[in-house]
Amino acid sequence: MTTAGARRPRCVVIGGGLAGALAAVCLARRGWEVEVHEMRPDPRLSDGPRGRSINLAISARGIDALARVGLAEAIMRHAVPMRGRMVHDANGARHFQPYDKDPSRCINSISRAGLNVALLEAAAREPGARVHYGHKCVEVDLDAPAAEFVDADGTTARAEGDLLLGADGAFSVLRRRMQRMDRFDYSQDYLSHGYKELCIPPAPAGGFALEPNALHIWPRRSFMMIALPNEDGSFTCTLFAPFQGPNGFDSLREPAQARAFFTREFADALPLMPTLVDDFFANPTSSLVTVRCAPWHHGGMALLIGDAAHAVVPFYGQGMNAAFEDVVALDDCLARAGDDETDRERAFRELHARRKPNVDALADLAIANFLEMRDHVGTASFRRHKAIERALHRFLPFWYVPLYTMVSFTLTPYAEAIARARRQDRLARWLAAILFVAAVAAVLAATAT
Ligand SMILES: Cc1cc2nc3c(=O)[nH]c(=O)nc-3n(C[C@H](O)[C@H](O)[C@H](O)COP(=O)(O)OP(=O)(O)OC[C@H]3O[C@@H](n4cnc5c(N)ncnc54)[C@H](O)[C@@H]3O)c2cc1C
Repeated sequence: MTTAGARRPRCVVIGGGLAGALAAVCLARRGWEVEVHEMRPDPRLSDGPRGRSINLAISARGIDALARVGLAEAIMRHAVPMRGRMVHDANGARHFQPYDKDPSRCINSISRAGLNVALLEAAAREPGARVHYGHKCVEVDLDAPAAEFVDADGTTARAEGDLLLGADGAFSVLRRRMQRMDRFDYSQDYLSHGYKELCIPPAPAGGFALEPNALHIWPRRSFMMIALPNEDGSFTCTLFAPFQGPNGFDSLREPAQARAFFTREFADALPLMPTLVDDFFANPTSSLVTVRCAPWHHGGMALLIGDAAHAVVPFYGQGMNAAFEDVVALDDCLARAGDDETDRERAFRELHARRKPNVDALADLAIANFLEMRDHVGTASFRRHKAIERALHRFLPFWYVPLYTMVSFTLTPYAEAIARARRQDRLARWLAAILFVAAVAAVLAATAT
């Protein structure tokens, strides 16, 4: 809330990624002067770095955030709906597992670069906002508050404001500075697995080489590959494997080893990947980290959002969705706050209390889903479990809502969704036990007469 006639508050946004660009739009519309400083060059002038995740799954929470700034319709026009998982067994068999009983409920594959450009352009269109590319934040003064940036020529500039917004991702410079504060909690945990991005180009005759409206998974116990469709008919594949050990990245050092691995493990995908060996050795092997910290703010002068505050591993497809939810929560909290630093501090405390338990719950869920995708999705018992979940949801829709549905297709806070899912599962187990005892009693009664 800014008062008419008063000086507009100024925000220095560090990082023009997904959360930073969306936050810039919201803050500018709330009357702030916003300067976004993004370390990378203008993405419209380059092809983007090779090897970055080029698509993401966006679901209800992300779409809701885009709708709040009137961008959902235009952006979602470029998304490819994914209605379920297509599981590719080692023997070449495929099974489709719908995400929901309602086939219109889907997650959506969207280009990361396209989405980022759309958000940065939306920010730049706001009268109070400016975007600077090639500005790398190197130092932060929490109490001024101010940040120092270096451009491509090595020139240093200082930007001051009323608020520093750290939207600079999992290795945030602002967070690193906050780590030096008394009583700042911080932890980072790497998975023993890393990932590498690969590609399935469009079919030679045009169109998709695989079923387009699905998230494809090749689960192989200690490793797996997934593929998400792109608007141009290609798929971005991501291989998740241990860094070391059997089937680890360290055992795939030569082109012949990579080819043999794919021939053995992903035989149905290999013929669709003509650039496999080039991609495999050109693209980096990247790590997967969970970051937790608290508090996310320094008074009313500095605030972390998105991956800078809570990076999660990507296995529930929720990192960006959660980052966008932070922006919605920030916008709501600022709407109720006054103009001065004390009011903002109160707003940030409220934001932290509202979001922290939920993103902590998401972090645990994302790791659990890694094990589920890798080890269980291909098994018959997992397919049975999902079929029972869908049946319960179909016949008892108010009583039973699967966890995946609550996380991906509703705005139910993550921690609440997990608590409800646990209650439902306990009740379902009791119900199954009661039905079993009743059935046995009925059989015994029938045989006794
Ligand atoms: C392999 C993979 C797949 C994923 N898939 C999904 C998915 O399907 N769905 C989903 O919801 N999420 C997914 N995620 C998570 C998602 O990518 C992140 O949660 C999301 O990008 C967070 O947005 P952000 O803006 O907080 O951070 P980022 O997107 O990392 O943006 C940070 C920005 O800050 C800039 N920056 C960094 N340091 C500086 C600096 N010193 N100075 C200036 N600028 C700086 C960076 O260049 C970048 O533009 C995935 C992540 C990975 C790794």
